[in-house]
Amino acid sequence: MKILVVGAGPAGLMFSYRMKKLKPDWDIKVIEKNDINEVTGWGVVLPGRAPHHPANPLSHLDDFDQLSAQYLEEFKLVHCGQSNMKSTGLPVCAVERRALLGSLQKHCKRLDIEIEYSSPAISEPELNRDNYDLVVLSNGINHKSTYFRQELKPEIEYGKNKYIWYGTSKTFDSLNLIFKHHPKGIFVAHAYKYSNDMSTFAVECSEQTYLNAELDKLSDEESAFFIAQVFEEELEGHTLQGQNGLKWRNFMTLSHQKSYDQNLVLLGDALQSGHFSIGHGTTMAVLSSHMLVKALSEYTDIPSALKSFDAKVIPLMSLFRDHANTSRLWFESIEDNINLSTTELVESFDTRRNALPPLPKALGQNLMEALK
Ligand SMILES: Cc1cc2nc3c(=O)[nH]c(=O)nc-3n(C[C@H](O)[C@H](O)[C@H](O)COP(=O)(O)OP(=O)(O)OC[C@H]3O[C@@H](n4cnc5c(N)ncnc54)[C@H](O)[C@@H]3O)c2cc1C
Repeated sequence: MKILVVGAGPAGLMFSYRMKKLKPDWDIKVIEKNDINEVTGWGVVLPGRAPHHPANPLSHLDDFDQLSAQYLEEFKLVHCGQSNMKSTGLPVCAVERRALLGSLQKHCKRLDIEIEYSSPAISEPELNRDNYDLVVLSNGINHKSTYFRQELKPEIEYGKNKYIWYGTSKTFDSLNLIFKHHPKGIFVAHAYKYSNDMSTFAVECSEQTYLNAELDKLSDEESAFFIAQVFEEELEGHTLQGQNGLKWRNFMTLSHQKSYDQNLVLLGDALQSGHFSIGHGTTMAVLSSHMLVKALSEYTDIPSALKSFDAKVIPLMSLFRDHANTSRLWFESIEDNINLSTTELVESFDTRRNALPPLPKALGQNLMEALK
């Protein structure tokens, strides 16, 4: 079996590692457009404590305890200078994306999986699909996929809010959601520590607030400085750090009604992306990898394996999309809720996804099935 994996993010690397572990004689090659040192994004949250919680991708890595992951047990909502603190229930694990990818690379290397970094982002005809039994597209959303296929019924929706993903050396010991009234409008920060000395600091605001603050006219450095001033009280003098690939954007939700076409299959964000406010993108990307590994190990032919994968993954991904969209819309309508008391705002935030079937339950069921 000859497999080409396009994109060395969590989906592509976890798929390659687990597939090769199960089928050591299969030929798996990964191509990645970025340089090995170029990792976009800061830290992400994952569910539960590794190695006990199988939905946490770190539970599948034998060096999970060397990645400086942080376990956060409290959620803090800050509004009008008041804060509301409560338990997260299940501990939330925050980890640096670079550390997670570095560990996955090591796991792949140990199994002699070739990862070709700085590979030119090739177009679909150049892929030479016929040279492979299977081509796995795990190239995220960044380029709306160069391999976009109408057969898979893609849909793209852009969020109304503007967002940016910063890092900071201020360590936030709990999951923080900070609402800031500013003369230019309302800014919301999602902040938590993901290593001993760094935190993620993702900020969103309405398009109008973005324009009022003239963020469209500021340089990256000026913008980071302005936002650091907005959250001066919480950052306590720490600055915000940007990255080249991370600019102010509207969140892009990429969805597909079908996950495969002939010998080509989509995984992770390339199949379904979901707003960062529910913190599940990496978990879903890795879960879709486990599901594909399972299907390929159960069936002897690719068409049957992909058909089985599709039947399971599409309903799960559309539930993920619904949860993520509902959460995104809640943040987009924050101006309607901002005058609530802190307690009412917490309640509104907590119940924003209650009308939907629970995602953790569906996630758990699919995971157990995939890992059987
Ligand atoms: C602000 C923000 C905060 C987030 N927070 C969280 C969080 O807390 N928890 C969470 O679980 N998720 C979070 N996410 C989502 C998470 O980052 C993604 O869901 C996850 O990275 C998806 O993994 P992936 O492997 O599918 O794609 P990616 O991580 O995007 O990896 C795709 C890879 O493919 C490469 N590539 C792209 N095009 C090509 C090409 N043509 N050829 C070769 N390689 C290519 C890219 O360089 C990249 O390395 C967040 C996202 C954002 C934007």
